[in-house]
Amino acid sequence: MGDQDLSGSLLEEQGYQLTGRHSAVKVCYWTAKALTEGRHCYKGRFYGIESHRCMQMSPSIDACNLHCRFCWRYQGWEHEEALEEFDEPAALLERSLEAQRKLLSGFGGNPQVDRTRYEESQLPRHVAISLTGEPTFYPKLNEFLALCHERGITTFLVTNGTNPEGLRALDPLPTQLYCSVTAPNPEVFRRLTLPAREDAWERLRESLELIRGLKTRRVIRHTLVKGWNLGWEEQYAELDRIAEPDFIEPKGYVYMGRSRQRLTRDHVPTHEEISRFAHRLSGLLGYPVADESEDSKVFLLAKDPSRRWLPGRAPVLAPPPGIEGEALPMWATTAQGSLSSP
Ligand code: SF4
Repeated sequence: MGDQDLSGSLLEEQGYQLTGRHSAVKVCYWTAKALTEGRHCYKGRFYGIESHRCMQMSPSIDACNLHCRFCWRYQGWEHEEALEEFDEPAALLERSLEAQRKLLSGFGGNPQVDRTRYEESQLPRHVAISLTGEPTFYPKLNEFLALCHERGITTFLVTNGTNPEGLRALDPLPTQLYCSVTAPNPEVFRRLTLPAREDAWERLRESLELIRGLKTRRVIRHTLVKGWNLGWEEQYAELDRIAEPDFIEPKGYVYMGRSRQRLTRDHVPTHEEISRFAHRLSGLLGYPVADESEDSKVFLLAKDPSRRWLPGRAPVLAPPPGIEGEALPMWATTAQGSLSSP
């Protein structure tokens, strides 16, 4: 099964909890931080997701058609297209929730962890379908999304954009759909993501066209690797114009996991470099820079900044250590007010 070695303990040593033949859950760094320190990831600040109630999972851990140099995962994928044998979505969701509870159980006895937050963490309100692999290769993704939504669990789905058939088949759509655009042109794309298919770039462009018409919250993610794909703002802007997303997230590459065998620390852009990219893109597209998170090295460009929080959610701004609370910036209070109005 590729070099993921799913039968062995390698993935489990890395904190993955296998939840079936092709799926896994892993506790995110920020879920742990939220429990122990009340600090949340940028998705709290940008969209209102509380990290301690967020479950990070993948329905296709060993299926992908790219080999991105910046990928944190082991590669040598077993599948480069839709899975032929797969588990039922109800069982997948149950096992994922159970695995998350099990992985978090150690926090229950930790005196640093607020009891209410711990109890809330046992009932995730959000699923980030993005851990590893290409999730649209799971043929029962629609049913999985529907089951999450029935339980009041919001879903963020991250695709690499090279499976337009999978995108076209999505019904229901995730609460928020991310498409990674990690290269400004076909040459950089080929060198950086080493696609399995010759026509991967054309398929990505086809997905961008499709995304433009999808009635959900749509995000384009630019993962920026210094010396590889940082720059070319005009070309990125052209691609973004095809999708007309609601949000754009320029995000710095993080030197972690297996990517350390392909890249070096010098490929990590500084927050200032990401900021320059974000502001240039903002100027070209007319999307205001709505926010930023230095911790997560990410900026938020929003077509309409007042619509950034999920319905019924408010920005989750953690107090910095030693400070009781953090005042919301003016844009946050204004938009929060508009969210609570009918
Ligand atoms: S698309 Fe995602 S899972 Fe696939 S190689 Fe790239 S970063 Fe890794």
